[in-house]
Amino acid sequence: MIKTSELEPNFKYEIANEPGGENIKRCFNCTGCTAGCPVTEIDKDYNPRKIIRKALLGMRNEVLTDDSLWLCASCYLCYERCPQDVKITEVMGAIRAIAQREAKAGKIKLNNPKQLFDNLFIDSVKKNGKWYEAGVSGMFMLRTKGIGGVIGYAPMGMELFKKGKLSILPHRIKGKDQIKRIFEEVEK
Ligand code: SF4
Ligand code: SF4
Repeated sequence: MIKTSELEPNFKYEIANEPGGENIKRCFNCTGCTAGCPVTEIDKDYNPRKIIRKALLGMRNEVLTDDSLWLCASCYLCYERCPQDVKITEVMGAIRAIAQREAKAGKIKLNNPKQLFDNLFIDSVKKNGKWYEAGVSGMFMLRTKGIGGVIGYAPMGMELFKKGKLSILPHRIKGKDQIKRIFEEVEK
């Protein structure tokens, strides 16, 4: 059900002002993106056309807190097929960026594990120059499954460590500061 009193018509402009979101208003609802999406094949609840439609209608809160936003695998199939050049993969990224900002500002709550993993991964690359597998995986387990989850995965972690696939400490990376500066420039 759509409550017109809760619609935020400016949401489409907000997305269009975000890098990657510029072409959202071109969508004419043809369904081409959803028909070819491999994620939709697996999860029928995922519907990129619907996300774009809701965004254009101004269903801001519903779109930003929609768990399925994080299901897009960025395969770019819809990007290639869209007759309107909406660049839907990029639009998804733009909507996710707004959602992340709103969550950081405490305005919405995001509970999707993929979003949490993405954040931990990016923070780790920014801090260490490369992702620190043990740290990111341990923190992810702790935040999603609690201490029991960390203990449960410890034997697998030990196996990976013994085979040299997992480092206990963060990797020492040359040019770590340059990577940090790239992040700072992008954030600017
Ligand atoms: S294929 Fe393009 S125009 Fe068609 S619904 Fe998807 S985003 Fe909109
Ligand atoms: S980029 Fe995302 S929305 Fe588009 S086809 Fe791939 S998984 Fe589906």
